[in-house]
Amino acid sequence: MPATSMEELVSLCKRRGFIFQGSEIYGGLQGFYDYGPLGVELKNNIKAAWWRSNVYERDDMEGLDASIIMHRMVLRHSGHEATFSDPMIDNKKNNKRYRLDHLLKDQKADVQAKVAEIMGEDADNFAALVAALNAKPAQASAAFKDAGVRDPFSGEVGDWTDPKPFNMMFKTTIGPVADDESYGYLRPETAQGIFTNFKNVVDSTSRRLPFGIAQIGKAFRNEITPRNFIFRVRELEQMEIEFFVVPGTDEEWHEHWLEKRLKWWEDQGVPRSKIEILDVPKEDLAHYSKRTYDLMYDYPTLGHEEIEGIANRSDYDLGSHTKSQSELGLVAKVEENADSIAKLTIPHPETNKPVVPFVIEPSAGVDRAMLAVLSEAFTKETLDNGNERIVLKLRPHLAPIKVAVIPLARNKDEITSVAKKIKAELQGLGLGRVLYEDSGNIGKAYRRHDEVGTPFCVTVDFDTVGKGEDAALTDTVTVRDRDTLAQERVKISELAGWIQAKLR
Ligand code: ATP
Repeated sequence: MPATSMEELVSLCKRRGFIFQGSEIYGGLQGFYDYGPLGVELKNNIKAAWWRSNVYERDDMEGLDASIIMHRMVLRHSGHEATFSDPMIDNKKNNKRYRLDHLLKDQKADVQAKVAEIMGEDADNFAALVAALNAKPAQASAAFKDAGVRDPFSGEVGDWTDPKPFNMMFKTTIGPVADDESYGYLRPETAQGIFTNFKNVVDSTSRRLPFGIAQIGKAFRNEITPRNFIFRVRELEQMEIEFFVVPGTDEEWHEHWLEKRLKWWEDQGVPRSKIEILDVPKEDLAHYSKRTYDLMYDYPTLGHEEIEGIANRSDYDLGSHTKSQSELGLVAKVEENADSIAKLTIPHPETNKPVVPFVIEPSAGVDRAMLAVLSEAFTKETLDNGNERIVLKLRPHLAPIKVAVIPLARNKDEITSVAKKIKAELQGLGLGRVLYEDSGNIGKAYRRHDEVGTPFCVTVDFDTVGKGEDAALTDTVTVRDRDTLAQERVKISELAGWIQAKLR
């Protein structure tokens, strides 16, 4: 059974070294988290699984790793300077700030209904209600007061300001000159690095439509209220694809990617039955989107929340960068003919005429993926002897540690040296991390490896080195299976093949 509450996951993550609060020794920094010894392994494994499936296993994809800080013009012409904002509302009584839609969502149903009634909107159409509140700020603050919208911090009805848009981009100065123009932005999505490199990739790879560019990397959003552990953070990581297609074929490709992505989540242990597909209402679409499917995973405690967005970005981004480049005089006119301006275009596969392709963008958050994967793997079991155990039933390819090699006696050279040799041999298979662990207490080691999801523990004992009671067990080890708890005696000479076959 998956985790039933966020608290269970938070506690496991801290206890076993998956995730820590950022800048913790100075009191922590809200919205920033650090990934610990096991967290970094799990995160890397998720990213590797995504890259393998979307880049290596396809023949229509290229990879990219663009810089995080971007020219302010990129984010001006992408529309982010003007529109990448969330509605913010303050309580004048205690100066607490909230994201308007989150504040409203946290209210009781009758309060939400009252706000909707005052605004003349349907309470069941949340997106339209939020859009109306944003469009009429003075009426919104009055509606919040009259409907008795409570401040989640104080629990009292607030004295609400008019909502106003808060731009979520982090701005930073660049270089030693601090004039008005020497600034850039930390990218709020990895996507813009792909669009600005579109021409470079096409020219250097001779790609033709349809094809995609994939990128995994950090993005930054100054969220008004970061919350729910790593679900909503200010420094996040995204796994994004911009898939470029012939205009007119975009809707078909949108469906293709929806299917592909659901299948991928399933392969990571996140079943379809736990994901609702939200066809995002028009009022809620991002400025670039023609249509978006949000994959809403059923997170413990939170309920259905977005884990991935699959957007049809049309020709918005390449089109607007091309247009602004021409306006700014940044594109070279190859000839006098206006058609030959070096636009962000690609030849149409049939007519060979330059075309600005449409783009399908599957965009998944690594942090939200971690939370979903951990939540699905988290299992509490009662054993035959009545004891309870917590076990992370991670798919083997995601497990932070693949195999733990444990010498039964840590001070006996003949045993530890065999264990170390086995560790080195298994590590050489390239399966991921193999851990040599001589903490001394085998029971504790098993419990720990259950909780961090290690598929196999290999124990080297006196029998292994011919000093036990059963001579027939010489040169064999005990392999314990995380899920079945079965313990099997395997010959050292056959161990590598045995482990490889099981992990495959
Ligand atoms: P939300 O509505 O939850 O704020 P969004 O619609 O702004 O999310 P997108 O812009 O579609 O999110 O970003 C793509 C993906 O990046 C999301 O599906 C999510 O997995 C991840 N993501 C976005 N914002 C955050 C955040 N603040 N913290 C963690 N992950 C995030």
